[in-house]
Amino acid sequence: MVTDLVIKNSRLVIPGTGIVDAGLAVENGRISVIAREANLPKGDKTIDAKGNFVLPGAIDPHTHVNAFKPFGEAYVKETQAAANGGITTVGVYFRTDKSYDDVFAENRKHADSVAMTDTLFHFGLINDLHLNEMPKYLSKFGVASFKIYFAGVPEVGVLANDDGFVFEALGRAAALGPPAVVNIHAENGEIVEYIKSHISHDRRDLAAWSETSPNFTEAEIVTRASTYAKIRNAPIYFVHLNTKEGVEAVLEAKAKHPKIWVETCPHYLTVSKDDDTDYKVGKLGKTAPPLREKESLEKLWWGLASGVIDTVGTDHLPVRKEQRLLDKDIWECFVAWQGLETMLPVLLFEGVNKNRLSLQRVAEVSSMNTAKAFGLYPKKGTIAIGSDADLVIVDLNKKVKVGPEILRGTADFTLYDGKTFTGWPTMTILRGNVTMEEGKIVGKAGTGKYLPRGSAAK
Ligand SMILES: [Zn+2]
Repeated sequence: MVTDLVIKNSRLVIPGTGIVDAGLAVENGRISVIAREANLPKGDKTIDAKGNFVLPGAIDPHTHVNAFKPFGEAYVKETQAAANGGITTVGVYFRTDKSYDDVFAENRKHADSVAMTDTLFHFGLINDLHLNEMPKYLSKFGVASFKIYFAGVPEVGVLANDDGFVFEALGRAAALGPPAVVNIHAENGEIVEYIKSHISHDRRDLAAWSETSPNFTEAEIVTRASTYAKIRNAPIYFVHLNTKEGVEAVLEAKAKHPKIWVETCPHYLTVSKDDDTDYKVGKLGKTAPPLREKESLEKLWWGLASGVIDTVGTDHLPVRKEQRLLDKDIWECFVAWQGLETMLPVLLFEGVNKNRLSLQRVAEVSSMNTAKAFGLYPKKGTIAIGSDADLVIVDLNKKVKVGPEILRGTADFTLYDGKTFTGWPTMTILRGNVTMEEGKIVGKAGTGKYLPRGSAAK
């Protein structure tokens, strides 16, 4: 028997299980055999992993690649960027105040034709039309995740939902059943607006921006939203958790309501409002929600290691440096955040190589839990027979100097500019197709496909 692809000389990092010295075979884009090298079939193509670790392909569930450019245009480059960073599935947030019928029809075809990763869509819930159409979004489009905001992000045109609307949305999601989930931006927007209008604008430091959204505004919403979700028996997914108080609130909320998923982002794990970590970023650190102090960073790492935090997503919003208006003061320069390509490298270098996370835990927070939260498991998120052959080979000893010259996305800057990371993805494989090899994009645009969820996936 000759199979399509064989990976040998590898150590498989299987989330939820452990690390095994084994290779694998791929047939028709799926893993068909996992075995010791002697027992592997012959392949049309054989990849020698050179003793390196193989993880399930990383999933970045949280991007706004379409914030400033049409999705189809932005997505070509951004999915190359994703492949460059070991990512095989990307989640994209869409937002319109009309029906999502047209948004879906228009953008699904791009996800099927230009991408180098697979794609899942999330829809923002803004009005009653959206609430009424949720069953259609799930059954016809396979969109199972719906975003609500307790705080707006006026800089990118997002307004907050009120509590009554949120409560209703949670009820509707619960009625749909799995894999429907409500994604929640946890920040008390009314408090943030109040502080923004009272804080001295003579302040010019990065910390002043963070002080407009004190840590408690996150924790308070985590508790409040979890209370509503428990009453509604609705699954919820907190995006971009970023404070130590938030971690504590999640710990308590999860004890009361089991259907809570929690995500944090690489920038909250690596850069601080006081600019006192290894990465000095200045006004590039103006993000929403804002950066926090060092204690929160360490608490987030603890949360990831301990299971309080389930996933990592980037909140990637690709812009050029000139769009950040960095010559203006902290109030006027542009708020943005990015990090698609460096998500997995941050977990490898700052996580594994600094003993904050095990490699198995990296596979869980970058892939398995994300696939479970969004109804893609076990097609995605693991290394198992029958699962899609979405894989990333990582070399924990590879040193890479980070800078815009090695990045493939729209952003011409990185928070980690000039720093050398140890630990880097060396090959990305999407359903058996190599998309990135040693920093070179070798896949074809259009290899990636849209991923319908729920009954629409059948
Ligand atoms: Zn976001």
